[in-house]
Amino acid sequence: MRLTGEVNRDLIRARLLAWYTDQARDLPWRVPPMGNRRGDPYRIWLSEVMLQQTTVPHATPYFLKFTARWPTVRDLAAAPDEEVMAAWAGLGYYARARNLLACARAVVRDHDGVFPETEADLRRLPGLGPYTAAAVAAIAFDQPANVVDGNVERVMSRLFAVEMPLPDAKPTLNAHALGLVGPERPGDWAQALMDLGATVCRPRAPQCESCPLAEPCLGRASGQAETFPRKRTKLARPRRYGVAYVLTRGQQIGLETRPPSGLLGGMLGLPTTEWRATPFTDTEAVAAAPAVTVWRDAGAVEHVFTHFALTLRVFSGIGHAETLTWAETAALAGLPSVFMKAARVGL
Ligand code: SF4
Repeated sequence: MRLTGEVNRDLIRARLLAWYTDQARDLPWRVPPMGNRRGDPYRIWLSEVMLQQTTVPHATPYFLKFTARWPTVRDLAAAPDEEVMAAWAGLGYYARARNLLACARAVVRDHDGVFPETEADLRRLPGLGPYTAAAVAAIAFDQPANVVDGNVERVMSRLFAVEMPLPDAKPTLNAHALGLVGPERPGDWAQALMDLGATVCRPRAPQCESCPLAEPCLGRASGQAETFPRKRTKLARPRRYGVAYVLTRGQQIGLETRPPSGLLGGMLGLPTTEWRATPFTDTEAVAAAPAVTVWRDAGAVEHVFTHFALTLRVFSGIGHAETLTWAETAALAGLPSVFMKAARVGL
């Protein structure tokens, strides 16, 4: 999908490329912005895989260590698995390190140690998703690939003031980004957008006053740049109501095992009523209690489960019930948190 927007795309391209020429971050895997110069695909691929895990400052020492030890894709492909895994430690998921090795070995085995140049061929390598394939195609081979990650989505949502919330807006944001990709300096363009998102159009407090795209930016013109991208408002959870009973005898409290199926199934907890859509009256609460005694309304607790929010009234009393399991009140730490909250109110 290509979109026609109200912004001047030529102006955006010219301004951002000029800004990048002057202000590009100096990164160890980067070729300086000088037109159609190509980068080393091995270093660019390695940096992109590492940057999926972490930030530039955290990834940089790892990148330097990897490239000093394994300067080419052939060196990495020939490395023992354990050595690569050990060098990766601290960078997050080991699955990525395994994919890294699988990809390096596929490049050596299937491509004679030379990375393929097109996005489609790069996608066939193990572990290369759409983002990494587009990034390597653009930055290493100067191909007009549409490189879109969360940062680029944020910039597009502001630049075009996209009101549709994420994630539904993704195809629109992708199309806006595609509309700005051109034949001139595609590698620099991809990196310019990355730099803008990282240093100027940041998630919080975007620096619109120093942004090269301030003039054409519709988000800035709206006066609400930081509020983009829009997010879908969370659906309100339904509310349920119940009563929990804190029945004590001396230093002991009466507990019951919950039914094996259902929420908190099979777990030990306070005796409760069912959890239903309408609140319980006092009469209902006393009638459903596990023992006949004087019940005191001790208050209520709120707890949020994945699919509903619970308001649990807490009744406390002194007495005994054969049906309950008796535990020391000092030893309640293993109860589910909703019952811990209620016990604290009722004891
Ligand atoms: Fe982002 Fe502000 Fe620049 Fe627009 S003007 S792209 S909102 S930093």
